[in-house]
Amino acid sequence: MEIKQFYREIVNEHNLHPMHKGRMEGPDLVLRGVNPSCGDDIILQLKLNGEIIEDAMFIGTGCAISQASVDMMADQIIGKTKEKALEMAQVFMGMIKGNITDEAELEVLDEAAALQDVSHMPARVKCAVLGWHTMQEILNNPEKSEKLS
Ligand code: ZN
Repeated sequence: MEIKQFYREIVNEHNLHPMHKGRMEGPDLVLRGVNPSCGDDIILQLKLNGEIIEDAMFIGTGCAISQASVDMMADQIIGKTKEKALEMAQVFMGMIKGNITDEAELEVLDEAAALQDVSHMPARVKCAVLGWHTMQEILNNPEKSEKLS
């Protein structure tokens, strides 16, 4: 299978069958992230155990890239420290902006590296980074955490 095709399959799979979509019982941090230019609208929920992100889930709607991206992100950050998750977000942002192309450096992203192609699609950048950006925002500013309605 061609590599780009393979990546597209990963994105499709996460979009159609998200593993981390749903409402979390008793999340520690909750933040809504919106990308008005596309209509992507998510609510990220994190469960913390000290410095460790014990669970990550999201609810919301949006395009395939935004939904697949946040699902892959949740998959990657569960079990990681907050610091590690923020470091991964930096790498992801760098990849999407086209500043990081080195495969060894992108390895930390695992499946999320499937979105590297978005660096050639300026209109989709905000879709791809929505979940990661929302995660950075809430980890850096936990006082912004919202109540799940
Ligand atoms: Zn979108």
